[in-house]
Amino acid sequence: MNERKASDFKIRSNRLTEFAVERDYDRCIKCEVCVKQCAFDVHYYDEEEDQIKHRPENCVGCHRCAVLCPTDAITIKSNPAQYRAHGSWSGEHVKDINRQAETGGVVLTGSGNDKTAPVYWDKMLINASQVTNPSIDPLREPMELRTYIGARPDKVEVKDGKLASKMPPQIKIEMPILFSAISYGAISYNVQKAIAEAAQELGTLYNTGEGGLHPDFYKYKDSTIVQVASGRFGVHPDYLNAARMVEIKIGQGAKPGIGGHLAGEKVSESVSITRMIPMGTDAISPAPQHDIYSIEDLRMLIYALKEATNYRVPVSVKIAAVHNAAAIASGIVRAGADVVAIDGFRGGTGAAPKAIRDNVGLPIEFALAAVDKRLRDEGIRNRVTLISGGGIRCAADIVKAIALGADAVYIGTAALIAVGCTLCQKCYSGKCNWGIATQNPYLAKRVNPDIARQRLVNMVNGWSHEIKEMLGGMGINSIESLKGSRSQLRGVGLTSEEIEILGIRPAGQ
Ligand code: SF4
Ligand code: SF4
Repeated sequence: MNERKASDFKIRSNRLTEFAVERDYDRCIKCEVCVKQCAFDVHYYDEEEDQIKHRPENCVGCHRCAVLCPTDAITIKSNPAQYRAHGSWSGEHVKDINRQAETGGVVLTGSGNDKTAPVYWDKMLINASQVTNPSIDPLREPMELRTYIGARPDKVEVKDGKLASKMPPQIKIEMPILFSAISYGAISYNVQKAIAEAAQELGTLYNTGEGGLHPDFYKYKDSTIVQVASGRFGVHPDYLNAARMVEIKIGQGAKPGIGGHLAGEKVSESVSITRMIPMGTDAISPAPQHDIYSIEDLRMLIYALKEATNYRVPVSVKIAAVHNAAAIASGIVRAGADVVAIDGFRGGTGAAPKAIRDNVGLPIEFALAAVDKRLRDEGIRNRVTLISGGGIRCAADIVKAIALGADAVYIGTAALIAVGCTLCQKCYSGKCNWGIATQNPYLAKRVNPDIARQRLVNMVNGWSHEIKEMLGGMGINSIESLKGSRSQLRGVGLTSEEIEILGIRPAGQ
């Protein structure tokens, strides 16, 4: 019998094209900029017809071609041809099923959750002073955003007017904003360099993620947080001792409960040296840390890292926002962590199964409110710094996060957008047209690290001005005074349960 194997068939895609590419041929000068710029081979020159043509089925909607076309001849639109409307089966379900019917694999995605789950930041409004407790003009009065990261002792002793207690290690940062963990490998050398230099210039910290520390980046050590994740990529004594803070990564908001996967195509020679893995091999970090199965195990790792760094730097533990985040955070504090970082379900990712990114975890707003409350109820809130991340989009989100109980925030996706990311969600492909999530030298050169650094500095400085404006409006002259001050927030369009969990009052009360 002549049996045919699955590999004998070429499966034709049934998926509708997501984007429509429109080219104004009256404007097109056939310069081929679009042809050269698109790593997804959307545009090509047709010699026979002497025309630039396109394959819209390849378009990922990154808009690189439209932005760089010298004559503005290209428009990228959502394809007006849509799947038939259906109350239960959305076009996205149909598309994903077809994708899996074609490949048999997991549907991968990059960047953050794009579902329409409520963004609770948008349902909280900030207070402002009127008449009594007058507002403060930040242009004329000093306004303090300085923040300290690290553990705080329950009490201190003062002798002869001087502090007599030995303080745990603290890091002073100039604003309550840190760049969150994004590994070299997931992003290009130029982008990580830009982030490190921006952190240095701003007087804050950036985070290596789980990708190790490139030898060139040791010079930024005063601004560096190094991660110890389940794969232990690039972890060695020099790495730990190059850091201002060491972070144990238990989980990530975009993909709680699963490990990481950096495709072999992104493991260039330089990435392989930094991660201490063979070039071209997939870098797979396991879902759990294989030496942590209890709070006691976590305590052993925290103290092993403190020993390794001679108790010189704070140790942070990062968890994804999950249902029992408050109880876990309490255990982490009792295990001796100096910092707890909580990452919400809208956090970014270089690569994650779509099913996990879109369906697992919690909004950071709820997790943060629950963690802060639990630590306060247990009388241990002051022992740690709480950093929240995963969906911080603007200065107002930061003010709300700090009023809800955070000491500082991590920003990741916002930083990449400042550098040029257009949220096309193809980070996992290694073909980022904006030169960010790629190790392809031709694409990576598209980011000039000096310009990227300046864009990051500008964005954070702009946010800092806005935070000062909002603080001044509340009649507060220091970010420290806002911490956990939930009375400055009011909820709009929230249920009574949501109001209760967030620990705020409804608007009008
Ligand atoms: S970049 Fe613009 S002008 Fe140049 S070939 Fe493409 S569409 Fe034509
Ligand atoms: S980093 Fe690049 S690939 Fe990833 S979402 Fe942004 S533009 Fe797309």
